[in-house]
Amino acid sequence: MSLANLLEAAADGRRLSFDQGVRIYKEAPLHELGAAAHARRMQMHPADRVTYVIDTTINYTNVCNVHCTFCAFFRPEGHGEGHTMTHDQVIERVRFAADQGATQIMIQGGVNPALRLEWFERLFERVRREYPHVDIHSLSVSEIVGLAHVEELSTRDVLMRLKTAGMKSLPGAGAEILVERVRKRISARKVKPHEWLGVMREAQILGMPTTATMMFGSIETLEERIEHLDVLRDLQDETSGFTAFIPWYYVPFKTPLRGREASGLEYLRMLAISRLYLDNFAHLQASWLTPGLKLGQLALFYGCDDMGGTIIEEQVVHDAGSTNEATRKQLEEIVLGAGFRPVIRDTYWNLRDDVALATA
Ligand code: SF4
Repeated sequence: MSLANLLEAAADGRRLSFDQGVRIYKEAPLHELGAAAHARRMQMHPADRVTYVIDTTINYTNVCNVHCTFCAFFRPEGHGEGHTMTHDQVIERVRFAADQGATQIMIQGGVNPALRLEWFERLFERVRREYPHVDIHSLSVSEIVGLAHVEELSTRDVLMRLKTAGMKSLPGAGAEILVERVRKRISARKVKPHEWLGVMREAQILGMPTTATMMFGSIETLEERIEHLDVLRDLQDETSGFTAFIPWYYVPFKTPLRGREASGLEYLRMLAISRLYLDNFAHLQASWLTPGLKLGQLALFYGCDDMGGTIIEEQVVHDAGSTNEATRKQLEEIVLGAGFRPVIRDTYWNLRDDVALATA
């Protein structure tokens, strides 16, 4: 099939094989790839809206026993700069976010073996009791696996107890690139790709929606990026449990791994191929935190239909050298500037017409 025919078929929703995905990723001119991804996005979401969620990220501990080489945030156990928030400190941040209209909180941190499962249960129960309108979209597969080790429980049992305590959904963090060669090189102590997928499957079967992420631009090949998309697409075929895909690029500046930062064009190309390859994912999110708002705006023409969250407070990506921030008004203005209509959603893509826009 010619490249043009392949792009046309993908824009029309036809499934790409692995080889076809690699081919268009490598060979398609950027604008043609973007046009196909945008056509597909408009076919999936014909309305002119672009959604976003009012949320905050609370990085409750920087103590971590996983030691990823691409991470500038963590401190090993016993390090003088290691810190863990108290429940009161976390709740103070939830209050601050809720006062600004947040409907979602992402409590995420390192894998700190000093924290027991009960610590999270009590925290989540308190959030649910004091802020019942704020959804707990929190932790990551790494933290779930860490808790399972500490408690000598299965990951499924950990998820069930957290769900009972109030956790509603599991973010897709910590996937990086779901290829064993890459994991061994950049995060040898992290969960293996099949384990990451296994915990996601368990959460989804338990009725917890999840997202899926990808951190690209470290040491992986283009083929390995498509492999990552491929295993996610397979699991989504099986469970339909992913709400959205969120690719973001590695920020190298203060990390042990170092390397270079992906360019804006690489970012847009990755978004477009993601939109076309992941034919069974409803939403593609523009992760403006690393590329910044201006590139985030351009992402809306490369397959994205969602601007992610306001991320009122975030530390992990900032510690790696990113300096991007946004207010609700700024997020809405870049959506309006691109010719779309900003609409507030919750974690599960329910539209929240009852929450006023900052630009209203
Ligand atoms: S990325 Fe997460 S798991 Fe890896 S070292 Fe940093 S905090 Fe720990």
